[in-house]
Amino acid sequence: MTQIVTVFGATGSIGKSTADLLAQHADRFSVGALVGGKDPVALARMARELNASFAALADESAGPALAEALSGSGIPNGAGEGAVMEAVARDADIVVAAVSGAAGLKSTHAALRLGRTVALANKESLVCAGDAFMRDAARYGATILPMDSEHDALSQALAGRPLADVRTMMITASGGPFRTWSHERIAAASATEAAAHPTWSMGMKINIDSASLMNKGLELIEAHHLFGIEPERLDVVVHPQSVIHGMVYWLDGAVTAELALPDMRVPISHCLGLGDRLTIARGRPLDLVTLGALTFEAADEERFPCLRIARAALAAGGAAPTVMNAANEIAVAAFIAGRIGFYGISDLVERACTHFAGQYRTAPADVDEALAIDAHVRVWSAEALPELRAAG
Ligand code: MG
Repeated sequence: MTQIVTVFGATGSIGKSTADLLAQHADRFSVGALVGGKDPVALARMARELNASFAALADESAGPALAEALSGSGIPNGAGEGAVMEAVARDADIVVAAVSGAAGLKSTHAALRLGRTVALANKESLVCAGDAFMRDAARYGATILPMDSEHDALSQALAGRPLADVRTMMITASGGPFRTWSHERIAAASATEAAAHPTWSMGMKINIDSASLMNKGLELIEAHHLFGIEPERLDVVVHPQSVIHGMVYWLDGAVTAELALPDMRVPISHCLGLGDRLTIARGRPLDLVTLGALTFEAADEERFPCLRIARAALAAGGAAPTVMNAANEIAVAAFIAGRIGFYGISDLVERACTHFAGQYRTAPADVDEALAIDAHVRVWSAEALPELRAAG
């Protein structure tokens, strides 16, 4: 019997890698709903290739173009929030949640409430509303599989052992494109330079987060919720080759690491396989001799203040990560648009965290409350941008 896989964020980087694996293993999977953002042509092409049972775009205005692109295919389709929710409601054995940013919260949470097995690539769900997500996953009998390379590595290394056996969990960071750059050079960096990731091929938002090391901060918060591990037992090490993705340090001094070339199809296939190992066609073997060396260095929180800010938000708890994430999304968009410099990102995020520290003390009780905080912080952050520019 084939397993039905639904993909949210189908036309993004994770969605495309998932589609590649689904096509390679057509005997094992059938494709349920494919949900994209606003690209009708890319979504329609994928829906036809994978013979999806439904296709939806989040952008309502793109509905007619999607219908046109799918005409004659017999694939039902729609656009807007109603169509996205119809995609959630359709039968699925595995739901891949790969929308970028807080925009992915609602559909991911709706899938959890249906008790689905959710392969979670949308780390912002756990950053914005981690307590509510993990509680509701347990309440509705849903399973969350981490579809982030570091967290997939941690779950493979942990291999079901209890946290009581663990001293610490370590995730790796490539260090991003600015790893060896001076503070001055980073301060003057363009969005194109920030988006040039040295090892991974990903979307724009996560590329900028990787350059600022905010991505690693988001991933620490993600790990805290996924594994229920205290912030003090989580750490980051910079590892430029991106071959080791996560390590579990055990009480007895042993360390279990997961190694793989930086190819998102590895963690994706591990999630889709539900315990089975799937062959990845065109996947390169890891050649350690050619690689020669694996190197490690400490993360520099002076040049990469977003990591320090994220660690502080994780330690503060409550709604601090929700506030931080919303400000970061506004700041990253402003940086991409050329409205602020690279350090304007950390400046804005830190200002927002300070401004809202007294106001939002407790963790959002549910997704609606998280989204309300998110909306409030976005408005405040957008208003703070010109002031930030003036301050240089
Ligand atoms: Mg990652």
